[in-house]
Amino acid sequence: MKHDCDVLVVGAGPVGLTLALLLGSYGHRIIVLERHAAIYPLPRAVNLSHDVLRVWDGLGLYYDLFESAVADVRGTVSDEVEIIGASGQVLRRVPYNGPSKTGTSRTFRIHQPALEKVLETACQKRGIAVIRSTEVENVLNTDSHVEVSAQGPSGIQNWLAQFAVGCDGANSLVRRSVGFPFIDCPGSNTTWLVVDVAPTVPGAGEKWKDFHNARVHMNPQRPHASVFGTPQRRRWELMLLSDEEIAKASDSGFIWSLIAEFGCNPENALIEKSAAFSSKGGWCETFNKGRILLAGDAAHVTPTFIGQGLNSGVRDANSLSWRIDLALRYPESNWCRMFEDWTSERSGGVQELIKASVAMEARVTVTDLEQAMRRDVEYNQRPFAPQNPEKLGSPGMYALNSEEGEAFHDEVGSLFIDGTLQIGDRHGRLCDHFGVQSWLIFLSPVGESNSKTQICSDIIRRFSVVLNGKIVSIGNDIHDTTGVFSAWFMKYGALGVLLRPDHYIYGVARTATGLESLVRDALCHLGLLGEETVTLKPELQNRPVGDFGSQSIATKSFRRSDLNINMLLLKTIAFFPLITLTLSSPLLSKRDEASVLTGIQKIANATITLNNTVASYPGGIEGTITAVEILSDSFAVINAIVCTTNDAKHSANFTDAESESVAEAFIATLVPVVESSLATIESKKADFEDGFLGIASLTSLVETILKEIKSDSDDLATAIIAKLTSTWASVAPLIVAEIDDAFDKAIATFAS
Ligand SMILES: Cc1cc2nc3c(=O)[nH]c(=O)nc-3n(C[C@H](O)[C@H](O)[C@H](O)COP(=O)(O)OP(=O)(O)OC[C@H]3O[C@@H](n4cnc5c(N)ncnc54)[C@H](O)[C@@H]3O)c2cc1C
Repeated sequence: MKHDCDVLVVGAGPVGLTLALLLGSYGHRIIVLERHAAIYPLPRAVNLSHDVLRVWDGLGLYYDLFESAVADVRGTVSDEVEIIGASGQVLRRVPYNGPSKTGTSRTFRIHQPALEKVLETACQKRGIAVIRSTEVENVLNTDSHVEVSAQGPSGIQNWLAQFAVGCDGANSLVRRSVGFPFIDCPGSNTTWLVVDVAPTVPGAGEKWKDFHNARVHMNPQRPHASVFGTPQRRRWELMLLSDEEIAKASDSGFIWSLIAEFGCNPENALIEKSAAFSSKGGWCETFNKGRILLAGDAAHVTPTFIGQGLNSGVRDANSLSWRIDLALRYPESNWCRMFEDWTSERSGGVQELIKASVAMEARVTVTDLEQAMRRDVEYNQRPFAPQNPEKLGSPGMYALNSEEGEAFHDEVGSLFIDGTLQIGDRHGRLCDHFGVQSWLIFLSPVGESNSKTQICSDIIRRFSVVLNGKIVSIGNDIHDTTGVFSAWFMKYGALGVLLRPDHYIYGVARTATGLESLVRDALCHLGLLGEETVTLKPELQNRPVGDFGSQSIATKSFRRSDLNINMLLLKTIAFFPLITLTLSSPLLSKRDEASVLTGIQKIANATITLNNTVASYPGGIEGTITAVEILSDSFAVINAIVCTTNDAKHSANFTDAESESVAEAFIATLVPVVESSLATIESKKADFEDGFLGIASLTSLVETILKEIKSDSDDLATAIIAKLTSTWASVAPLIVAEIDDAFDKAIATFAS
C-alpha cells in the first residue's frame, strides 16, 4: 500500500509542529494538516520551561527563537513567585526561576505566535509539508494504516499514513472521532479574563506595579495573577465574578478599570489581547489506540495556573518521536507496547501537574472574606510541595531494577543534567553535539581511563545498529569544561549512564557489567533484543537522515536465530572480543569527503525521484495526490541538500585528490540530473497552472520551492568550495553559475 506520508500530524500548534520537526529530523515523511489559514495571532503561553527550550535547541532553533519569540528575564525579574493573601500579605515565595539542571535559567518568557512562526518556518525549510486551510473531519484506524479525511479548499481530500497523531488542541476532533475517553478533573470551573498589554511609551512598562515580579493575588474581591511576558509585555489573568458576563472580555473600559491600579492605562499601553476562558482540567485515559495517538492539549488539558500546558505537550512530542521512529523502522516489532509505555509515563506526570493546578485554582478563587482568611492560615501551615515535571510517571521506559537504596534511584526516569562539552574546537551542550534524538551511553572520566571498562561487543553492536546509539566518554578528546558531568558521575559513583533520546535517564551503572545489562534491558524493553523478528523497512534503508548528530540508519535484520548464533559463538570462544569504550570508537559519526560524496549521491537520487513524480503529474483536481508527492519529494531534495551542507561544513579541508572526486561527483552526477529535472518542471508549467494544493496555487508554490532549492544549493556550493584546494576552488564558481542559470530560467518561467 502506498502511503501519502509516514506520519500525519493533525494541528499546527506548538506541539504538532515540534513533533513534525523531531520526526522529520529522523528522515521520515511528515505532513501536518491545519484548519486555519494562518497562525493564531494572539498570545497564550508565556511561561516556558528550560527542558522544553532544550528540545528546540537540539533542533537547531535556539538563535531563531531568541531573535523573536523567547526571552531570558533572569536578573531583571524576581526568581520567585509571590503568593499574596487576602490582606495583601506575602504568604509564600515559591522558587520559580533560578538555575536549572540543563545549565540555563529554569524558565523563560515566550510569545506563542512568534514561537509558532519559528517552528513552521523550520518545517518549511526542512521538507515538512504544513498544509493549511485543511480541516480534518474523520480519522480511521486500520491494522496497516490510518485514513484521514479533511476538508480543503478544493473539497474533501483523503490521506493514508502509517501513523497519525492528533495535536489538535483541547477540543480535539481526533480524540472525538476515534473515541478516546476524556476524564474531567473535578473542581475546575471558573472563568477568567486574560489581558496582554504592551507599553506604547518607551520605558513605561518598567514603571508598572509588579514589573519585577510574578504575583498571585488571592484577593477575595477579585482573584488575579500578574506575570511578566516577553520583555516589556505584561500579562494579567483576572477572575470574572459570578455576576459578570463573558462579554466583559471585549469591553475596553472594563479592562482598563481592572488594570488601572498597576499604573497601566490607554496613555502608556496597548491591549494586545483580551479574552475570556473557562479554566478546565482533564486527561484522556490513554493517549494511544492502534496507529493513532494524541499529544498536547488533545491528550490532556492543564488549567493555566502553573503555566505548563504547552510545556507538557512538547514533552509528549519529545518522548513520542523516538518511539514512532522505532515503530517505523521496525514495523514487525511490538510498537504497541512502546506507545503504552509512553502513555503511562506521560499521563502519570501530567496528571500530577493538572491536579496541582486544579488544587491551586480552588485555593486562589475563594471570594468569601472569612473563608479566604482561614485559607491563608492553613496555607501558611502547609509544607511546600513542589511539582517535578522533569520526572517520568510510573511505570515507564526506564530501568526498573535500580535499587531503592541507591543514591541515584531518584535520578532514574528523570531528566539528565546538561553542561558545556568541548569536542575539538567546538563548545556546546550535549544536545548541540549529539542532537536531541540519539540514545547515548555517557561514560565518566574514570570510565575512559579504566582499562577494565569493557563491554561485550555484541550488545554494543546492537545498541549502535538497532538503536542508532552513540557512546560518549569524557576524556582526552571530550572536555567537561565546567566539570558538571564529572561532578555528577562522582556524586553517584557512576561509571556510566544510559540516556534515552529525549535526554531522560534510562539507568545508571557502576560497572561495565551493569552498563551492559542496562543496554540489554533497554533493547529487551523495546522488544528489539532479538526475541522477535524485527526487520528494518526497506524504504528506510537509504533514506537521508536529518543532520542533528544522528548516524545514518543501518540496514539490519535480527532474528532469534541471530541471537542463537551469537550465543553459540559466545560459548565457543568464551567471550566476544571486548572493546574499550572511548571517543575513538568508530560508532561516532565522522564527516569527511566520503560523507559529502554520499550526500551528493543522495541529492541526485532524491532529484531523480522528484523528476519522475513531476513527469507523472496530470494537473487538475485528479493531480492532488501527486502534487502532495511533489511537495514531499521536493522536501526530500531540500533535506538531502541541507544534510550534505552540514557534512561539508563539518569536514576537514579536502586533499587535492578528494577535491577532485567531490568536484567530479558534482559535475558528472548532480549537474545533469538537476538540469534535466528543471527542464521537466518547466515543461509542466501548464499543468501546474491548472492545479491547487491547500490554498496555494501550484505555480507560485513551485516558484517558492525552486527558489528555496536554489538558495540551499548555493549554501551547499559555498560549504564545499570552502573545503576544496585552491585549484578546484577557482573553477567551482563556473559550475555553480551554470546551475544558478538553470534555476533562474526555471524560476522566471514560473514567475511569469
Ligand atoms: C491564557 C492562556 C495562558 C497560557 N499560558 C501558558 C503558559 O504560560 N505556559 C504553558 O506551557 N502553557 C500555557 N497555556 C497553554 C498553551 O497555550 C497550550 O497548552 C498549547 O497551546 C497547546 O498546544 P497544542 O499544540 O497541543 O494545541 P493548540 O495550540 O490548541 O494547537 C492545536 C492546533 O490544531 C488545529 N486544529 C484543531 N482542530 C483541527 C482539525 N480538525 N483539523 C486541522 N487542524 C485542527 C488548531 O487550529 C490549532 O492550530 C496557556 C493557555 C492559555 C489559554
